[in-house]
Amino acid sequence: MSLQSFQMYINGESCEAVSAARFDSMDPSCAQPWASFPDANGDDVDIAVKAADAAFNGRAWRSLTATARGKLLRKLGDLISENGEQLAQLESRENGKLIRETRGQLAYLPEFFYYMAGLADKIEGETLPIDKPDMMAYTVREPIGVVAAIIPWNSPLYLTAIKVAPALAAGNTIVIKPSEHASASIVALAQLAEQAGFPAGVLNVVTGYGPSAGSALTSHPLVRHIAFTGGAATARHVVRASADNFAHLSLELGGKSPQIVFPDADIDSAVNGIVAGVFAASGQSCVAGSRLLIHESIYEEVLQKVADRAARIKIGKPSDADTEMGPMTTEAQLNIAENMVATALEQGAVLRHGGKRPDVNGGWYYEPTLLECQSPTDTLMQEEVFGPVAAAIPFKTEEEALALANDSRFGLAAGIWTRDIARAHRLCRDVRSGIIWVNTYRVVSAMAPIGGFGDSGYGREGGIDAVLSYTEKKTVWINLSSEPMADPFVMR
Ligand code: NAP
Repeated sequence: MSLQSFQMYINGESCEAVSAARFDSMDPSCAQPWASFPDANGDDVDIAVKAADAAFNGRAWRSLTATARGKLLRKLGDLISENGEQLAQLESRENGKLIRETRGQLAYLPEFFYYMAGLADKIEGETLPIDKPDMMAYTVREPIGVVAAIIPWNSPLYLTAIKVAPALAAGNTIVIKPSEHASASIVALAQLAEQAGFPAGVLNVVTGYGPSAGSALTSHPLVRHIAFTGGAATARHVVRASADNFAHLSLELGGKSPQIVFPDADIDSAVNGIVAGVFAASGQSCVAGSRLLIHESIYEEVLQKVADRAARIKIGKPSDADTEMGPMTTEAQLNIAENMVATALEQGAVLRHGGKRPDVNGGWYYEPTLLECQSPTDTLMQEEVFGPVAAAIPFKTEEEALALANDSRFGLAAGIWTRDIARAHRLCRDVRSGIIWVNTYRVVSAMAPIGGFGDSGYGREGGIDAVLSYTEKKTVWINLSSEPMADPFVMR
């Protein structure tokens, strides 16, 4: 079968790598190569960053009013909406996410652009009631410069949208490095940006491997802000790279998010929330609710219902509309899930469901897997799997549930299932995580910040915070006095 050939997008043009090298990308649903991309290295990254820097300083972009930038973003949102089916098909093909889910995500994706378009001309400075006679002072928020966006493979379009929309709304330019496993949808997005009318160089995409293209991008001296989503090990490289150039940084990393179920909860709803949290997207979600903390009085009932639902999950090709769980995106991720389940069993965990590779079309599939752990210190209770694997443990009291929930170096998300409003608010106050869902799970909005505590990273994407994080503040002082400057050796 011949591979679909994609180019990358630099300075308003589709192009090959300077070296002319290419790499193949695999279709996870059948473990066969399906597409090929330019294999960018430092030379290509340098061209892309210089183009973004020239665009940042060039008239075509700088002379646009904030309102005009907002209109371009709105236009891009419209184009995404018009081309939603094609983008949904591409993302489903490249990372194996269900077509029913990518269609759903694409139906919402334009909202990120509309929301940030609306904020573009509301990025305001302040006039300061300054405590110095004869002085006036005000602040201005300015774009930072070239943004490097590093994207993982699990939700490439969504994770790109929440970076591109605020970064461009604030007047920056951007170079995106998608994952080598999921680049096609991002190249398609760049072409829509061109159609929308963004000037050349404002939005660029370099395709290639993390250690070469990604590393060259995050360490490039002209990059002023790095927006990274990915794993902790890569994040450490990125933090070190940013230190050399003092680039601004936001890190959206992984999690080991708890789902806490109390006896007064709507049990069937909690079971659905647990399934949504850890088996949807084959568990390849940063907010996967993979630690099940369940009150002892309902522990067996909840586990049995989760196991029964897991047994009925329809595993199959992501392109089939009735499939509920597709493949893992990479073979490496499948091996990690399998090895972590093996370690959990060695540590005494009890397997309640799953733990095997179903044979579907030769693809990288793993069953929805449910284990009961012996101790909160077990590896599976502490480490992210990034796969469809849930680890359960019972608790006796609310205090114990809280202690278990906070017994993690991560802090990305948490689910609380209770009808007791006071208890819900107590836990919202005391659980340490960036997102808390009460009696629901896996809800996102362009208006709501996303980000983590602890090893889940820092910085927030989504909401007003996001657009402000792509600006820096300038303070302007104006001397209103007509008197000459006094003593030059004394600070005024
Ligand atoms: P990853 O291996 O850390 O890769 C993330 C990105 O970094 C990819 O584009 C990768 O490129 C690139 N990269 C690799 N090495 C690099 C280097 N030395 N310098 C610069 N960039 C480099 O993560 P992943 O396996 O793709 O994604 C899974 C992780 O992302 C999980 O931990 C998950 O929890 C996290 N995640 C977090 C969120 C959130 O919003 N908090 C959302 C989604 C995922 P290549 O793929 O081409 O190597």
